[in-house]
Amino acid sequence: MVTVKEMLGLSEKGYRDFKRAVLAAAITNLSLLLPFVVIVQTIITLLNPLLYGGTLDTTRLWLLFALGLAGMALYFLAYRHEYRKTYTAAYKESESIRLEVAEHIRRLPLSFFNNKDLTELTANIMADCTSVEHVMSHVAPGLFAGIITDVCICVLLAFYDWRMALALFVALPLALALIVGSRKVQSSFGERHAAAKLAASDQMQEYLEGIKVVKAFGLSGEKSKALKDALRRMMKESITFEGITSFFIVLSMMILQVGLGLVVFAGVSLLTGGSLGLIPFLTFTVISAKIYSPLIIVFTLLPEFFYFLVSTKRMMKIRREPVMDGDVCPALERYDIELEHVSFAYNREDVIKNLSLSIPQGTVTALTGPSGSGKSTLSRLIARFWDVREGAIRIGGVDIRTIAPDALMRYMSIVFQDVTLFNDTVMNNIRIGRTGAGDEEAYAAANAARCDEFIRRLPQGYETVIGENGSTLSGGERQRISIARAILKNAPIVLLDEATASLDPENEALIQEALSALVKNRTVIVIAHRLRTVLGADKIAVLDKGVLIEEGSGEKLSARDGLFAHLYRIQQESLGWTAGTHG
Ligand code: ADP
Repeated sequence: MVTVKEMLGLSEKGYRDFKRAVLAAAITNLSLLLPFVVIVQTIITLLNPLLYGGTLDTTRLWLLFALGLAGMALYFLAYRHEYRKTYTAAYKESESIRLEVAEHIRRLPLSFFNNKDLTELTANIMADCTSVEHVMSHVAPGLFAGIITDVCICVLLAFYDWRMALALFVALPLALALIVGSRKVQSSFGERHAAAKLAASDQMQEYLEGIKVVKAFGLSGEKSKALKDALRRMMKESITFEGITSFFIVLSMMILQVGLGLVVFAGVSLLTGGSLGLIPFLTFTVISAKIYSPLIIVFTLLPEFFYFLVSTKRMMKIRREPVMDGDVCPALERYDIELEHVSFAYNREDVIKNLSLSIPQGTVTALTGPSGSGKSTLSRLIARFWDVREGAIRIGGVDIRTIAPDALMRYMSIVFQDVTLFNDTVMNNIRIGRTGAGDEEAYAAANAARCDEFIRRLPQGYETVIGENGSTLSGGERQRISIARAILKNAPIVLLDEATASLDPENEALIQEALSALVKNRTVIVIAHRLRTVLGADKIAVLDKGVLIEEGSGEKLSARDGLFAHLYRIQQESLGWTAGTHG
């Protein structure tokens, strides 16, 4: 049995606040009924002298008037209390859920994101957080409070006259069964609606991202047609979904209101039969007109609640994904890397097969091999983006699975091909290497990475804001900024993915100089695409289909008639240096 706390994915504090919000809303509901009790009592007081003779009890009327005023005051206070409890608490809780989910996602292994569409994931998380916020503030407290209020009223009325209460509520189980029973149908339309919404936002994103290409190739007709179609589908699904939900709500409400007729019918028969007094009869007829409002709230909120449970469930699933754990303060003393019988698969098939390799501290090891042979995968395993399926990777003798990924990252600088730059100043982009580094250190790193000159030529120098992902910079410049970052980080291990994109000779030379500054005295693993450039490495490891097939110095491997010599020959002949393009 899932508890409400689990169902809504609340924290301890969130759950406590939630219970208070429900209580506050229930008190508000009940305080709303007080005026009706006063009205009924006033009618009775007024009718009493007419029906049974005697004088009008004015004292009682004044008392009732005072009670009515007190009721209004109580309602005002209860509502104010409910508002605070519900909304303030809901937004606070939703903030902490968002933070927690973001933090959790950060600690998830990358395998979680593999095979997942990131747009979908982001859209879901954003939408789910909003849904949870909405459920917590506008749906769940009202729903639960409505149920409590209804039960209280049922019990009170049953004590007053059980036959009339029965007539009033006899249709309730039927109406409730209809709403709950139709949940599957509603959910399936709900899911279709959600899918259409997602497809539309996907299309919108694609359209905006590709706007340049769209304009350049005059595709506006076709592309906007796809967007229009997606939006139209979303509109249709929204209407169908609303229609279906409303159909069930209205139908169940109609069934429920049958109770109103039954009360009058049963009341009149009991009254004429003499077993019911006029006063209880009047009480029931007046109250039954009002009694349905908390019920109607429950009936309207219930389908909405079911719809949002999909969101909370999805969110709970993410929050339950196991994170990558490990020692947060490892004390690594050496930085030699040992791969021992490592096997790894992204999906089913192993892409690294029983691979053993030792990378001594302070040396440069080049990974080479045809495209798709597993070079990038191997470097990602060393950085613990993924955990090995079998075998172990040790740094300085410590299995990296015992080190928290964040902590491991402190020992590594990673320079990948797809450089990520942020829409911020050049200075801040370099400082990502080590936040807290002083300006002088950043200048020195930029200088070593041969960035200084081009940065100083930018309009505001180091304070120039570069566009999203550095769109205002050239490929070579972006690469050098990423090298400056790595130099600033000053980590003992460097993972390097050599660029495949052909750069102009000048940029090429500058990058080589920048890299020489970076790799000095460090343990370096370089994914090499141009074999010529790796001949100087201390060790070359040649991979083929995930298997280490050759290992040794460039000299040794060139002399042997193996894969390396073969690939090297091809590259020399084609002069394109591109045989090992990155897969
Ligand atoms: P290389 O860097 O040598 O070109 P990779 O390590 O990128 O090779 O790829 C090795 C194999 O793993 C290839 O068959 C590739 O298709 C597969 N692969 C790479 N990345 C992923 C991924 N994220 N999910 C599934 N398969 C992948």
